[in-house]
Amino acid sequence: MSTPKFPKIPLSFHSELKKRISDYFTEKGKSMTGNFKLYLKAGILVTSFIAVYVHLVFFTPATLWAVLECVLLGCLIASIGFNVMHDGAHGSFSRYKWINNFASNFANFLGASQHMWKSKHNVIHHTYTNIHGVDDDIEARPFLRLCDEQQHYKIHKYQHWYFWAAYSLLYIWWIFVTDYKKYFSGKIGSVPLRKMTTREHVEFWFYKVSHAFLFVALPIYMVGAGAWAIGFFSMALVAGFVLSIVFQLAHTVEHTHFPQIDDSTGKMEDEWAIHQIKTTANFATRNKVVSWLVGGLNFQVEHHLFPKISHVHYPAISQIIKKACQDYGIKYIEYPKVRLAVASHVAYLRQMSRPDAHHDPH
Ligand SMILES: [Zn+2]
Repeated sequence: MSTPKFPKIPLSFHSELKKRISDYFTEKGKSMTGNFKLYLKAGILVTSFIAVYVHLVFFTPATLWAVLECVLLGCLIASIGFNVMHDGAHGSFSRYKWINNFASNFANFLGASQHMWKSKHNVIHHTYTNIHGVDDDIEARPFLRLCDEQQHYKIHKYQHWYFWAAYSLLYIWWIFVTDYKKYFSGKIGSVPLRKMTTREHVEFWFYKVSHAFLFVALPIYMVGAGAWAIGFFSMALVAGFVLSIVFQLAHTVEHTHFPQIDDSTGKMEDEWAIHQIKTTANFATRNKVVSWLVGGLNFQVEHHLFPKISHVHYPAISQIIKKACQDYGIKYIEYPKVRLAVASHVAYLRQMSRPDAHHDPH
């Protein structure tokens, strides 16, 4: 299928936003990329990950302690994903390209192909957010029905009860199934992947094999298959759940829109920036612990509008974006607490659990 087009508007909301944000950075004399605080955080997360991995694999802690460490490792995978890999892949981690590539490469190190991630996330999800048939982030069939245009299966009647189990499987599904599906089909959903270079093919296999060695073969050799299985699944289920829920709270809640393509023109109704604001929600932006751990993914409105600006700047630019939304009469969607965003996500899943669901975000 051909991807939808956004209308081009001469004096767009987007150009006004870009002007206000660029004025802010000029006035403050700040760079748009990460700062020392971010690099310190990245250092803490990556060092903790390596320390816990080495302790688990080479020092064989007692069972209960080992399971707790595996749960921690799962949380660290998600947090390195949010803070280091995600930012590196967007080019917002550092002003230097090689540092961004290094940060982005943590996806490969943690088992997920960086190449597939960049196409799925940076290009498809960030451009065509919440558009059924294009945005792969709302594609969880047959397990879940994430918008009312998707076909209803009987099992979906219970999706607001079992969604957490499906989310927990995401990481395993991603690194062992969907990466290969994308690789061999040459497509992400219905969108064709850019042709991979020889180097990208080699990298894909090199990192998949390295990951299997570090996270499957070596631990099995050191601690045995049974202990490895308990540890690996504890880690992977926690990582999957945390990664899924954080990304879902941003787009699949009661107040976000799921705009449709106008079949006659192939176009979307709103200009791109307004589309992003309508399809994206923030949560718990005043919670410093959540903000530190999720790398600004609780400021998703800011992230979707300015993915190349580091998340360390989101609290400040969110004030500018809120004001611009007020000036233009556009609703800025925000849930003040994590629990309210989770409740809204579950309520949305319950809405979609009905075959005749019609989502009304107003
Ligand atoms: Zn992103």
